[in-house]
Amino acid sequence: MELKLKIYNTFKRKKEVFKPIKKGEVSIYTCGPTVYDFAHIGNLRTYIFEDVLVRALKTLGFKVKRVLNITDVGHLTDDEDAGEDKVEKSAKKAKKTARQIAIYFEKQFMLDMTKLNIEKATFTPRASDFIPEMIKFIQKLEVKKYTYLTSDGVYFDSTRVPNYDQLAKIDIKGLEEGKRVTVNKEKKHKTDFALWKFSPKNSKRQMEWESPWSPSGRDKVKGFPGWHIECSVLAQKFLGDKFDIHCGGVDHISVHHTNEIAQSYALTKKIPAVYWFLNQWIFVLWF
Ligand SMILES: [Zn+2]
Repeated sequence: MELKLKIYNTFKRKKEVFKPIKKGEVSIYTCGPTVYDFAHIGNLRTYIFEDVLVRALKTLGFKVKRVLNITDVGHLTDDEDAGEDKVEKSAKKAKKTARQIAIYFEKQFMLDMTKLNIEKATFTPRASDFIPEMIKFIQKLEVKKYTYLTSDGVYFDSTRVPNYDQLAKIDIKGLEEGKRVTVNKEKKHKTDFALWKFSPKNSKRQMEWESPWSPSGRDKVKGFPGWHIECSVLAQKFLGDKFDIHCGGVDHISVHHTNEIAQSYALTKKIPAVYWFLNQWIFVLWF
């Protein structure tokens, strides 16, 4: 008897029998940790959930190729492309460099994964090691006219992709003020997002790079990638334009994963993953 695995595909909001793109192999992308602090129980529960999936697939005889990225730059304290970079903020507080903070918490995360007996991913790329690839990806979007420039960075025009909300199934027209606060008044639409941000005028960033872009009137302003672009770039780099399963938390549906799909689709005309295997919140009950 052939064993079949059914998984809940958040993209379709239903359970489906898992069928890989390539016979006998499964490609998985997992949104990894932002290394600015210790992982908490909710974070680690995500990786246990995904480990169960990987082990189930291996038990069924599949060869698993998995990417788990390390976010060491670009994840801001505010999902609306505003606020401070989490790693740089943590570095300031601890009086360390951003690199020291990122390396320290990446090591702690890996130790936690080992203690929990979670299998290692095939690839664990750091976002900051792939800046040229991110710049190239954004340039390709620029050529296809999916981007526009503001005084604080390069933005993605979310209205240029059909069904922008196909994962989140959010009511874009009815988006209330306050749910997605538009901090940058130069954004054309509430759901547009930063692909590349310019380093702020008044404070010095530690992790910043030259790019082909600068705001008008300011020459050669360094900058850093937006958070969403790293997942599209790293998934494509290691797994190709289309892979089997995308993992992460349900808290990323409405912004991070939605934006990832939009920018990848804009470039490849493909939804990057077939199955979106996203875990729910962990609830702690106090009695
Ligand atoms: Zn991600």
